[in-house]
Amino acid sequence: MASETDKTLKELFTLANKVGNRRYHRLTQQDFDDYRSFDYWRYINGDSECGTTEASRTWVRDNSDRHCPICGEQYSHSNGRSIDHKLPRAQYPWLSLDFRNLWVICYQCNQEKGERHWYEYEHYIFTRHPERYEDIVFARPRHLLKSLRQG
Ligand SMILES: [Zn+2]
Repeated sequence: MASETDKTLKELFTLANKVGNRRYHRLTQQDFDDYRSFDYWRYINGDSECGTTEASRTWVRDNSDRHCPICGEQYSHSNGRSIDHKLPRAQYPWLSLDFRNLWVICYQCNQEKGERHWYEYEHYIFTRHPERYEDIVFARPRHLLKSLRQG
């Protein structure tokens, strides 16, 4: 089976961008609703960007342990947890509430990642924090990319 993972990251993202651009021009009412719902689901409370609704708090608890998957720091030592979109919400608004696109990382790492596209992000990590590169590749949103291609 020729899996998506055999492709180079660049090829994958060229494809994802192409599909993404096409999809972006066909946003539905549901997409806009999901985009707004995320803010409510996550509910930004003070300086904590972690889930503060019952549902999101539970989700965060079930989908993270005590350490940030990027830097390996304990959340309690790095300003706490935050929910991040692997593929940025601004570019992929229809993935706002797609849980395959969400992960929990520390606040510091979230600030650093910012609105970077995943592809740019891997490059950034590769050049700035090569010791973290393997973990980032592990977290690559493969299924999401695959579904983008089929969508
Ligand atoms: Zn971190």
